[in-house]
Parts: sequence; structure tokens; C-alpha cells
Amino acid sequence: MVVFLQGCSMRCAYCHNPDTWAMQGGRAMDVDEIIQCYRRNAFYYRDGGITLSGGEPLLQDRFVLQMAKRCQQEGIHLTIDTCGTTYREINQRIMDQIIDLTPLFLVDIKYPFESGYLRLTGQPLKPTLDMIETIERKGKTMWIRYVVVPTITDDDAAIAALAKIIAPLHHIEKIEFLPYHTMALTKYHQLGIPYRLEGVPQATHEHIDSVKSLFVHALSTIRQGQG
Ligand code: SF4
Repeated sequence: MVVFLQGCSMRCAYCHNPDTWAMQGGRAMDVDEIIQCYRRNAFYYRDGGITLSGGEPLLQDRFVLQMAKRCQQEGIHLTIDTCGTTYREINQRIMDQIIDLTPLFLVDIKYPFESGYLRLTGQPLKPTLDMIETIERKGKTMWIRYVVVPTITDDDAAIAALAKIIAPLHHIEKIEFLPYHTMALTKYHQLGIPYRLEGVPQATHEHIDSVKSLFVHALSTIRQGQG
């Protein structure tokens, strides 16, 4: 069961959920209500669990901590879908507690260079890298996700830099290259938010395949060098 938490401090140029940016909105629910909802629909799930997504779920870190504690008590598998931007010194303690209680993280790396990351998202890259390092150190499983935006995030140097980030990590179960699409354009127009990627083409399957090959080649070259 996926729970979408309201609020995000990032402003990714390709975000397809700009309606989740504001902290207000959505429906207020407490932990009990979410767990009851999960239990009520339990017959639907084969290997079920709860995924907290957003927006950026860790913006509501105290709530996420409560959820993580409760899921552990009740034996419910918890996944957190995050971009890692809230992993800052000021709230590192609570983040680390959450990481200790959560078996799986889906972590978005929006771009592997600081300047491009800031341009694309409005926030720095470092917190994401720090969070990945902590998840790795604590031995929790990660899936890394990377959105392929033609002419924006698909250059050879970026893919090689992404491979360099991934190469030393041992707890990554999966890397997903997601194709950029323009399906959210109508939402932007309805919300009156300027769309920064106007005219940028969607990523085709062939393009995703070529980025994947580039990545696999870069990763194996780095790992051979390390070995
Ligand atoms: S982190 Fe996710 S929800 Fe937030 S702006 Fe980026 S794509 Fe949108």
C-alpha cells in the first residue's frame, strides 16, 4: 500500500506531482488509521507492505518515525521512497533512527553533480549522498532511481559520475532508469506553475537502453579498476 505524504522542498524541473509540493492539502491521517487501512485491505497483497512516498515523505520525519516503529512492532514491511534532501545535520538523529527501522529505501539521485543538481531541483546534492552513505553503512537495502531527461540528465559525464557514486556501494539491489515524460504538463497549466522543460523531448525506450549500456560499461570499468 502506497501512502503519499504531502509536502516537498525540492522543485525538480520534471516533477510530475507539483500538487504535492505544498505542506497543506491532502487528508490528515494518523498512524492508527493507516495501519487499519492496510489491515483492511491485507487480502489484496501477496508479499505486502507499506511504502511511504510523496512529495518527500521525510519532510514529516516525526510521523515517519512513528510509522517505522509501528511497522516494526506489527511485522509490516516498510519502504521509504525519498530523494534524501532532508538528511541534514539538524535532523540527522531522527533520520538515523528511521534508517535503523526501515528495511528498504528507494532513493532518487536526480543528478550526480552539485551545480546541475541545484539547477534541476533547487536543493543541494550532498544530503542525498550523505543519506546513501548512511543507509549503506547500516546495511539497509536500496533501490536507486534516476530519471533520464534527454539533453538534461543523460550526458556521458553524468552517467559516468553516477556509476562512480554507485560503484563502492554493496547494498543496492536495483537501479532503475526512469524515462522522462510530459504527462504532468496539464497539471502545471492548471496550477499556473511555469513548466521549465517546455520543448524537452520524452525519453524513448531506445534511449533508456543506451543510457543503461553506458552506465553498465562505466560501472564495470570502475569496478575492474578497483579489483
Ligand atoms: S522530489 Fe519528487 S515530489 Fe519533490 S519536486 Fe522532486 S520529483 Fe517532485
